[in-house]
Amino acid sequence: MSRPTKLTATILPTGVMHADLNWLLTSPMHMASRSEPVKQRDWVEVPTHSVLIEHPSGKKLLWETGVPRDWEDRWSPTGLAEFFPVDATTEDMWLDSRLAQLGLEPGDIDYLLLSHLHLDHAGNAQWWRDTGTTIILDEEERKGAFSFDGYNLGGHIRSDYDGLELTTISEDTEILPGVTLIRTPGHTFGTLSLRLDLEDSGTMIFTSDALYRKESFGPPAIQAGLVYDTVAWFASVEKLRGLQEKTDATLVFGHSGEQLNELRTGLGNSYT
Ligand SMILES: [Zn+2]
Repeated sequence: MSRPTKLTATILPTGVMHADLNWLLTSPMHMASRSEPVKQRDWVEVPTHSVLIEHPSGKKLLWETGVPRDWEDRWSPTGLAEFFPVDATTEDMWLDSRLAQLGLEPGDIDYLLLSHLHLDHAGNAQWWRDTGTTIILDEEERKGAFSFDGYNLGGHIRSDYDGLELTTISEDTEILPGVTLIRTPGHTFGTLSLRLDLEDSGTMIFTSDALYRKESFGPPAIQAGLVYDTVAWFASVEKLRGLQEKTDATLVFGHSGEQLNELRTGLGNSYT
């Protein structure tokens, strides 16, 4: 892989889950009511993605690690395997397949950027143990993720990240020129979004679970079933809205199948 002359982002669809839409969108449209007490539920595709970022300095960064192949074993003790089965993933999608397609090993990544430590985002983070890769996340996320004893706390599975050397940030931080981590807490203790300032494509902001889908962004912002801190979440959405308006950024939502189908993805389809 040769060194790019411009900042380059390659979106890599990883595993695809299914879930009830109500987990993602607390929407009156989907709630039962007196006139319609038995409401049709939506069992929707919930895709995940990683982003490979190649920097003109020669550094490589990876945003998110997606879902693990052995999700059923690892997620069953949490009860979440029943609600978020990774049952629509093709062989070429798993993160190890994606890295192989790019001719990369985990240790070739200089910076691993983790939006948060939920099981469908940090599920493969252990591949980076002792690789020399700098793993970066929010300090509040690190604290929260180690604040419990036992196997899991909701979507945080301790063994996904236990024992890794973690570097944390406590304010919005430009990691390399054009690559900035934005603090957008609320979904979890310290969820991060990623801002990329690209030469041809303009600003792209990868929101991870700060925003699952376009409908979450609104306006008005519509929160999800899984939000740790509602007040912080609303503030984070408005922070993203302000940034989006200021930079005319493209927002890439964390789990939107509709949007992922419209974006260029995979090897040879990068954004610069
Ligand atoms: Zn999450």
